[in-house]
Amino acid sequence: MIKIAFFDTKPYDRLSFSAVNKAFGFDIAYHEARLMPDTARIAQGADVVCAFVNDDLSAATLNILCENKVKLIALRCAGYNNIDLPAAAGRIKVVRVPEYSPFAVAEYTLSLLLCLNRCLHRAFCRVRENNFSINGFLGFDVHGKTVGIVGTGKIGRTFAGLLQGFGVKILAYDPFPHPEAAKLNMQYVSLDQLYAESDIISLHCPLTPENKYMINHQSIQRMKDGVMLVNTSRGGLIHTQSLIDALKTGKIGSAGLDVYEEETEYFFEDLSGSAIKDDVLARLLTFPNVLITSHQAFFTREAINNIATTTLQNIKSFWADGSLPNGICEKCSAGKCPSCPK
Ligand code: NAD
Repeated sequence: MIKIAFFDTKPYDRLSFSAVNKAFGFDIAYHEARLMPDTARIAQGADVVCAFVNDDLSAATLNILCENKVKLIALRCAGYNNIDLPAAAGRIKVVRVPEYSPFAVAEYTLSLLLCLNRCLHRAFCRVRENNFSINGFLGFDVHGKTVGIVGTGKIGRTFAGLLQGFGVKILAYDPFPHPEAAKLNMQYVSLDQLYAESDIISLHCPLTPENKYMINHQSIQRMKDGVMLVNTSRGGLIHTQSLIDALKTGKIGSAGLDVYEEETEYFFEDLSGSAIKDDVLARLLTFPNVLITSHQAFFTREAINNIATTTLQNIKSFWADGSLPNGICEKCSAGKCPSCPK
């Protein structure tokens, strides 16, 4: 029977994977530990390792997994910025879940935008303290504004679809423009123009070595004063200290963040009894106009069921005939070159 070592397990992972696994019959060992060089040996005897967004799949971890004859890494997520693909090439195969519910993430992006704009996160707390003042909660009409979408893949386009009822102008930037953008009233422009004209900027591109810190001091200076920044993609797209500096001057009016560049130690964990040692995160949490959530945009019933089904199907396909329908290309990391699995 095929053995799967499942890392960074949370109770909801066990529930969804165990239910779906009834139809597959794999031998799954659930481990709470995050995958990293220190924990990789737990996978000894397993054929497959199942990993999530904050597992460390660096060369050091991969070496240990290869020594232990693990054949396949099945990522139960879409993003794959946490794996050293060159170190994996030719030694261990990698599959992912490229699509499980673009609606989950796009709907969440919209809720961050609306909640942040109208200060619902603060109003909730204020009213519970019997404080019924609305001072400081002044928002803006989204209607008539310009929304800039960076990355028009599945989630970016779904988000654009949700915006259709709002009466906004949509600008988009993507190195690979989508042919159906016009149907979504999206106008492709340069990144510079998107920065200069958007009232709200939402990030929906993968994190790659090329676009790490694309939101930095220089790019922020090219944006409108008071712009709202929303990031449900990957934390490393934003240079957080530059964001903090811009929040302090008001250059950035507000930020909705479901991801953070150093989230690994914090997100998904209950640390309510401990102090935050990360001073950058601690500073970010002090702003009333910053709404941070713990990488939960994907978290809907439909999405986690799809994640479990696709992950186990990926494993089944690989073991049946070596096929990797959701494999990650070893030549490029963008999923766009002729060698990429289709
Ligand atoms: P996708 O592959 O369908 O689309 C990504 C798009 O980004 C592509 O069109 C690609 O051409 C474009 N792109 C690549 N580099 C770019 C760049 N430098 N600038 C602008 N665009 C660029 O992916 P998707 O399913 O739409 O997911 C987008 C991202 O959302 C994922 O990479 C992942 O990081 C993130 N995500 C977050 C959550 C969450 O829970 N917060 C869940 C799922 C996905």
